[in-house]
Amino acid sequence: MSDEPRMRDHIDPALAPAFGLAVLDALEVAGHEAWFVGGWVRDALRGEPAHDVDVCTSARWEDSERALVAAGIEVHETGTKHGTVTAVVGGRPVEVTTYRVDGAYTDLRHPDSVTFVDDVREDLARRDFTVNAMAWHPVRGLVDPFGGQADLAAGLIRAVGNPAERFSEDALRVLRAVRFACRLGFSVEGETQAALTQAAPELAHVARERVGAEMRGIVGSGRAAWALRRQTDVMVAAIPELGRMRGFDQRSPYHCYDVLEHTCRAMAGVECFAGGVVSERLRWAAMLHDIGKPACFTVDARGQGHFFGHPHIGAKMSERVLRDLAIPLELARPIVALVRLHDRPMKASWASELKLMADLDRRSGLREPGEVVALMHEMLDLRRADAIAKALQCRGYAVELDGHERVLRRLAAADACWRVAGLAISGGDVMRACGIAPGPEVGARLQAALDAVMAGEVANDRDALVSWLSARG
Ligand code: ATP
Ligand code: MG
Repeated sequence: MSDEPRMRDHIDPALAPAFGLAVLDALEVAGHEAWFVGGWVRDALRGEPAHDVDVCTSARWEDSERALVAAGIEVHETGTKHGTVTAVVGGRPVEVTTYRVDGAYTDLRHPDSVTFVDDVREDLARRDFTVNAMAWHPVRGLVDPFGGQADLAAGLIRAVGNPAERFSEDALRVLRAVRFACRLGFSVEGETQAALTQAAPELAHVARERVGAEMRGIVGSGRAAWALRRQTDVMVAAIPELGRMRGFDQRSPYHCYDVLEHTCRAMAGVECFAGGVVSERLRWAAMLHDIGKPACFTVDARGQGHFFGHPHIGAKMSERVLRDLAIPLELARPIVALVRLHDRPMKASWASELKLMADLDRRSGLREPGEVVALMHEMLDLRRADAIAKALQCRGYAVELDGHERVLRRLAAADACWRVAGLAISGGDVMRACGIAPGPEVGARLQAALDAVMAGEVANDRDALVSWLSARG
């Protein structure tokens, strides 16, 4: 341990969670040194001490395990090669990692080797950004050798050490820098920015699921419009399909921005329209909604640009992008459905909206009708955001959508039906009413009954439907 003076500590020890302190105590009672490190320290200094606790310690992992077990704490050997075990206290996991420095990163992914060291400062030096490279202890206070606290106050993401070297060791840090900037609403410090722009193409060599996990963080932050506009090289390196949108002139009276700027504005738009509660899927859909445009571009005899079929192509492209990034299917399907249907003509009528909902339902794979209603609200928010990101004369559609919203609220309140499973009759009723045997015809009649209910020709009521079916034979 070094004797150098440390910065004053601004974390109130009362904020430290008991499950993390139990781990520190167990290690220190056994004669080791231990600290809270990384994200918990960063967020506690920001007044948000809810982050998971990570602990770093002078103990080798076998000694950590012994000390924790001696204190009656459950331990799992989760990453012993890198010096990590996971302690579980009251159901809360705490990663405990030996002070270490990383060896070379020949695959831009994992250090080839790690070397265990004795000084927490050496461990902090291997960490990515100054705001993530602080350690804290309830008695000894804060260790902040790289000015993380000052960068937190200034709102800066700055690499620890030489930025170019740090990004060349692990290209994922390029995306992590953007993710933390988005999450915290920070800027990227100048030299770090220059190095990360330079290193962005190296993301092509990083495992796609790691890129996907960081992209979820960026998109989920609600500040991805900033990332797409100001960190375009990085976003395009992560999702090459976004690249063709850059500077793509739409040559259309409906548009006053290129496809990328239109997209950024639509992304910012959903943040406004969703009333402060924006789902991750809506954020992804806003980013991807026009991704198919460059591939569909045509120019007519008058020189006007068109994008016929762009929602269809865009949905196919989005599906591939999301699969490639290993985004879970239950998240990807509603995103792709929103992209596919964002431009589908719709009237502010009961029948028209139900038709769109049936399509949204079929494509999104959501189970509960209430979830489909929620997704339909998101579809309207996406359309509003899309409209205000167009030329001035198109923006009025955003107001028109209030009429659609009213219809949607009414049909949700009336428990309207848009799926066969919501009909007041079953296959058995159909067979009896129509005098037919089991087979595909039963499904066809149920579908016909659903179409009639959705068009308002018959009520979704058992007796009414049975007489409607009998009358049709
Ligand atoms: P959050 O989990 O909220 O995204 P975090 O700071 O906990 O934020 P993690 O990815 O969980 O981030 O990593 C924990 C800590 O490990 C970081 O704070 C950082 O100090 C270090 N770290 C993680 N990944 C890297 C990396 N690729 N290069 C260098 N240091 C890293
Ligand atoms: Mg973490």
